[in-house]
Amino acid sequence: MHGLMMRMPLMISSLIRHADRFHGDTEIVSRSIEGPIHRYSWHGAHVRARKLARALTRLGVRAGDRVATLAWNGHRHLELYYAISGMGAIVHTVNPRLYHDQLAYIVNHADDTLVFFDLTFAPLVAKLATECKGVKAWVAMTDRAHIAPDAPATLLCYEELLGAEDDEFEWPEFDENTASGLCYTSGTTGPPKGVLFSHRSTVLHAFASSLPDAKALSAQSVVLPIVPMFHVNAWGIPYSGPLVGAKLVFPGAALDGKSLYELFESERVTTSAGVPTVWLGLVHYMKQNDLRLSTLKMTTIGGAACPPALLHTLQDDYGIRVMHAWGMTEMSPMGTTATLKGKHLDRPASERNEVSLKQGRPLYGVDMQIVDEDGNALPHDGQHAGNLLVRGPWIACGYYGDDGDPTVDGWFPTGDVATIDADGYLRLTDRAKDVIKSGGEWISSIDLENIAMGHPAVAEAAVIGVRHPKWDERPLLVVVRKPGIDVTRDALLAFYAGRTAKWWVPDDVAFVDALPHTATGKLAKRVLREQFGDYALPEEVSSTDR
Ligand code: ADP
Repeated sequence: MHGLMMRMPLMISSLIRHADRFHGDTEIVSRSIEGPIHRYSWHGAHVRARKLARALTRLGVRAGDRVATLAWNGHRHLELYYAISGMGAIVHTVNPRLYHDQLAYIVNHADDTLVFFDLTFAPLVAKLATECKGVKAWVAMTDRAHIAPDAPATLLCYEELLGAEDDEFEWPEFDENTASGLCYTSGTTGPPKGVLFSHRSTVLHAFASSLPDAKALSAQSVVLPIVPMFHVNAWGIPYSGPLVGAKLVFPGAALDGKSLYELFESERVTTSAGVPTVWLGLVHYMKQNDLRLSTLKMTTIGGAACPPALLHTLQDDYGIRVMHAWGMTEMSPMGTTATLKGKHLDRPASERNEVSLKQGRPLYGVDMQIVDEDGNALPHDGQHAGNLLVRGPWIACGYYGDDGDPTVDGWFPTGDVATIDADGYLRLTDRAKDVIKSGGEWISSIDLENIAMGHPAVAEAAVIGVRHPKWDERPLLVVVRKPGIDVTRDALLAFYAGRTAKWWVPDDVAFVDALPHTATGKLAKRVLREQFGDYALPEEVSSTDR
């Protein structure tokens, strides 16, 4: 017997329609690429998204077509999210930080019919246009006045397209499992792979990620996503914002500490989200200028492990709650959040911080387990580390244009190595390919990096395994020093004493001016391993009795 409830498919268009009807005057503020701050409301966004859907139809976009964006976080990008998916096509958010060859590969692989781009990327587009012949038109996301006079005559202008339309457009209703968005992983191993989201997965993820133990969003929130809309949909904020009726603040291309700080303060931002690197930049700026964020209550930090020193600074010095989260493109992206349970509240601060530094416990909808090399389930005792498998309604079961099935018995292998404790908290010890295999045992590069980041002279740290004749691999610490603070190799190694097992202490330290990062702002360990491929470890340490 079926229940007697309306069968309304979960449509992305219903999010913006809801925000327009019930939060119509709530603001959306963007630092535009042209310079000035742009303001309108959920009502204004909905009107323009419908005009855009008409313009797309006129340009020949049909259901299922891929339409690409090369754009920062801003109001036009938001309109594209809703117009493209809402009309039944697929918004393909391209990460402009990828290598040029990868960009051309992705646009061609996705068979994008149109590409919308922010002015910043005009030089990139000029080059891409010669390599991506399948693209029917390139659209500059600006008005005519900002398009260079010598731009190709075929280049279309976003504001002209919208200006020619009215907003008479009804969002179509169709199967909620229809594809809505496409986002390629950065392809640290092999070519980039396209993760294809659906209307259903996107709406369910928006619900779950808004909950109090996740991003804790409400109609009182003012949310500034630092994480780009080309990096797994800014972790879902463009969808959860309208779901709860929050005010959104988009930083555009200005992601430096000063610009972000000014926007946080002028728009009275209460919550944010970004990878650790951007927070390190913002904290550095605030410290240098003796500033505080007066309205920011909490932030989501994820995409890479949150260094303990950063969590302590934000929580203890600035009173900003850190919600450490873990996920991946294939998970839309949110999987776990490290919020406390009731029983933690009366524990000492140090213990609470320890919980907050884990990668967290699953949102409802995400199931997870750890297995050994042979696929046998390992206990959730916080001790056994194994390969992490996940499943759920917003987790990928395949890749776009790829017949292979990445799942194993219905579970998606994350490529991460983790422990899970009795309370369900996940602690990532490594990515499977970054783990340091030493004398048959595993050393966690993340743990060693976190310790180094706690040293006052360290701006950034990476730990990689380098070849060792006896132990297979030994850890090498690669460090960027803070400007003006000196520290020696021996002092850094001594800093590990009492903070980790003796045999985990790195064998050596290499000082560098900068560390390589991937297109999503993470440490590019593969590049580092290539750079330090022949690194000769000092003799006396290699023979340390472990
Ligand atoms: P890419 O694979 O393109 O770098 P993703 O954003 O999909 O981009 O990366 C997902 C991976 O990032 C995870 O599998 C995990 O290794 C790492 N990651 C994400 N969040 C965290 C976190 N809080 N702590 C440690 N690692 C994280």
